[in-house]
Order: sequence, then structure tokens, then C-alpha cells
Amino acid sequence: MSTLAQDFKNEPKLPPVELLIDGEWRAAKTGKRFETRNPATGEVITTVAEAGRTDVHDAVMAARRAFETGPWATMPGIDRGRILYRIAQMLRDRFEEFVSLESLDAGKPLRATRRQDLPAVIDCFEYYAGWADKLKGDVIPVRDDALTYTIREPVGVVAAIVPWNFPLMNAAWKIAPALACGCTIVLKPAELTPLSVLALGALALEAGLPPGVLNIIPGPGSVVGATLVAHPGINKISFTGSPEVGRQIMRAAADNVTRVGLELGGKSPNIIFEDADIEAAVRASSSGVFFNAGQVCSAGSRILVHRSRYDDFVDAMVKRAEKYKIGDVANPEVDMGPVISEKQMNTILGFVDAGRREGASLLTGGARVGDRGYFLSPAVFANVGNDMTIAREEIFGPVASVIRFDDEEEAIRLANSSIYSLAAALWSRDVGRVHSIAKRLRAGTVWVNTYGHTNTRLPWGGQGGASGITRDLGEAALSNYTEPKAIWVNLGR
Ligand code: NAD
Repeated sequence: MSTLAQDFKNEPKLPPVELLIDGEWRAAKTGKRFETRNPATGEVITTVAEAGRTDVHDAVMAARRAFETGPWATMPGIDRGRILYRIAQMLRDRFEEFVSLESLDAGKPLRATRRQDLPAVIDCFEYYAGWADKLKGDVIPVRDDALTYTIREPVGVVAAIVPWNFPLMNAAWKIAPALACGCTIVLKPAELTPLSVLALGALALEAGLPPGVLNIIPGPGSVVGATLVAHPGINKISFTGSPEVGRQIMRAAADNVTRVGLELGGKSPNIIFEDADIEAAVRASSSGVFFNAGQVCSAGSRILVHRSRYDDFVDAMVKRAEKYKIGDVANPEVDMGPVISEKQMNTILGFVDAGRREGASLLTGGARVGDRGYFLSPAVFANVGNDMTIAREEIFGPVASVIRFDDEEEAIRLANSSIYSLAAALWSRDVGRVHSIAKRLRAGTVWVNTYGHTNTRLPWGGQGGASGITRDLGEAALSNYTEPKAIWVNLGR
């Protein structure tokens, strides 16, 4: 069971570690289980039931029954909303329990999970609880002898597949709006971080969510994820993860013409103009690229700095990176925990090697810290060209690439020269410049004189390509899980 070499004050309480299907906790039909590890120590926390193809089918069938015949299908929106509010309230009551579990399984500093992940999860359930009874259509007059109007209907059964970097938050971003809209869900957590989502499943049942409305089936993407997205009983696929898997999912969805929403990767440009407040820019740019050990889809990993401020910026960035406290996630002083796995650590170190080989200057960091767990020191590369591997590819680790530019047009051209389009930032005191450049950056979100904020009320997603083609969050997410139906009533007599 739980082997916590790192010193959690509140020993994390493990959730049921089985499959959640039709309101019951079940072992996998094959009897298989897999290990989940603590990234801070590399030790096994526990084993979890590993779904197989038959379990996927059972989960989809349970979700279909719950959608078509269960109480969920006919429940007034206000009652669905009440259940979502109850989930939010119960998460507040068990705040520390969820914080510890998430930090343990995903290697996050407790301080960050407390400040960021759990409040965002609770906010998400409360926000969409408020929407559940406000999904309405329009009366659209067409002619005098007809009443013509639209209603919004839930799309049906949602397959939600999420990654490991914000396990609970990414799940909440899908579960809360889908439930508010009256859909039912089969959710596959990432195999590296199944625990907090299973705990959420248990809590949702206690909050009164009817059986079959939320099914959770941990297991490998290549089996569980691939079977799920190809299943004809799925009406909508909502995926967050890598561009490669996003492409595979889009192809698989074509056979049944299933709706697909993809939230994919990023290589976000963060542009520092000559009139920027450099001190503030260094502070926000460091957390923009090193937060969550750089494992953030919107990490500001391409920092473009005007030639006249380049040396000052780089010096300050290196000093700041060298002050980062890395280590025990339970220590409130710690800024950065481990990366998620040994494999991820080696991938990141491979990118650091590529940066050196291609001629960028590694000024600090980029090395393993200690020999237990998967800790890395934050890396700052200077003299980076926008076409180098470290500036083109998503590293998903604490590695900053700082690139020089000479003028506004070059900055915009470099920023937009990427297959990604998730987020961007710019730093300037010139109000005219910030508005006109914000419009020209190809990104679903643009931050001005700040970095990294998301909020449940604001839409989140890429503008196509390797960042994907959907919006989570905000009112925009409601259209992922509902569709309009036009009704024409003949009044002619
Ligand atoms: P990943 O694509 O490897 O895995 C994501 C999920 O997909 C996991 O649950 C995995 O098991 C599943 N999966 C894998 N193969 C599958 C298949 N063939 N069919 C169906 N499902 C399959 O990504 P990851 O390494 O877990 O996460 C990192 C990636 O996620 C990065 O590219 C990052 O930018 C992206 N991400 C994006 C956002 C966003 O909001 N845009 C947020 C977080 C992470």
C-alpha cells in the first residue's frame, strides 16, 4: 500500500482502486492490475484495476442506459445543478484529502495543489452547476402560420480522456460541463495518475449522482482509450493530451462519425518588448515555464526578448532559476517537485542534449537532482534559434528557450511560426501596441503583462494545428455537450 517516503502531514487516503461501472466498483474482467507510483520516490503507491476491452464495452453500455432510461435523462436541470453543487461542497469539506492524494500521485508541491488545482476543480463544478438550469433555446420567428423555435439537447454519452499533468482539474473541465448539460460519461484517466479521479468518482456517488452517469475506467491508452473512442455507443469524444494521440483519435472517430473535441499541446511564445517591466516579466516568465515542473500545455517555453533588453532579461532569469527550491512536495518552501516519471525525465534530458548539440547556450540547470525520484533543475537556454529543436518541440519539462528579436514584425513572425496555437503572452507598456499585437498572435489565449492565468469563466483551447480544435471552460464548453434542435409547429388553419 501507500509508501510515502515524503512526509505528508495528512496521510493520503486511497480511493477504491477498481473500475467504476454502473455505480459499482468492479475488478477488471481479465483480473489485471497496474501499479501507480509516487514520482518523488519512484515507489509504488498501490495497484489499480486495469480495464480491458470488455470492461470498456460494459462502461459504455452503462452510460448509454443511464442516458436513455435512467433518472438522469429526465431530471430537471435544477436538480442536476444541485448534485454538482453538492460535489463542489463535498470537495471543499475534503479539501486536504484530495490535495494530498493529487500531490502524491502526480508529484505536485502541496502548496501548488492547494492554491491552484483544488480551487479550480471546485470552481468548475460550481460554475457549471449554475448553468444546468439555464440551457435554453430561442424562438426564431419564420412565418405567421408557424411557431419555430430551438431547444438545446445533450449530445449523449461522452468519452473523456485526460492526461497526467493536472489529473483532477482536466477531468473536472470535462465532467462538470458534460453533467450540467445532461450527458453521461465514460472517463479514462492517465495510467500514471488514476487516483484522484477515482476518489472523485466515489465522492460523486455519495453526492447522489445516479449509477452509470459517471463511469471511470483506468488503463492503458492503447487499449482502453483506443477501444473507447472507436465504440459506436459514444456520441462525443473529449480528449486532452498529445497531438500524436489526438490525430489517432480523430482518425478513429471517422468510422462512426463521432463528434471530437481535442485539447492538445503547446509551445507558447512569451514576447518581452523593450518597454516591458523586466522585473515583473522575469518573475512571471519563470513561473510561466517552470510551474508544475514545466509540465503544462501552455508553458511559456519560447521566450522572445527584444535585443536591447536581452542580456538583462537572461541574467535575471538565470538568477531566478538558480533560486528555485526543488524537492519534497510536502515542504511549503519548495517551488518545484519531480517530473512525472523516469521516462519523462529522460525525454526532457534528451531535449537538453539536443539544445546543446544544436548550438544553444545552456546557462543553468538541465540536470537530474539527486538519484531518487525524478527531480530536474530548471534550465535556461540562451542564443536559441526559433528553428532549433528546443524552440520547435513541446518539451513538457522545466526548460526555457530565450530567443532574440529586433522589431515588432519579427516578434510576431517568430511567435506565429509554430505548429502550436494554444497561448501567447506579450509584455509592453504601450496600450495601442498590446491590443493590436494581441489580435495578430495565433493563440486561443493571449496574456498581456502577465502569464498563465486560466479561469473557469473563460474559454480555453487552441486555434488549430497541434494545439487542437475545441474550447474547454466558459460558456463555450456548453456547445461541446449540447446541440440545438429546431422545432417547427404548423399553426396554419
Ligand atoms: P498522451 O496523449 O500520451 O495521453 C493522454 C491520454 O490519452 C492518456 O489518458 C492516455 O492513456 C490516452 N491515450 C494514449 N493513447 C491513446 C489512444 N491511442 N487512444 C485513446 N487514448 C489514448 O498525453 P500525455 O503525455 O498524458 O500528456 C501530455 C500532453 O497533453 C502534452 O502534449 C500536453 O500539451 C497535452 N495537454 C494539453 C492540455 C490542453 O489544455 N490543451 C492540457 C494538459 C495537457
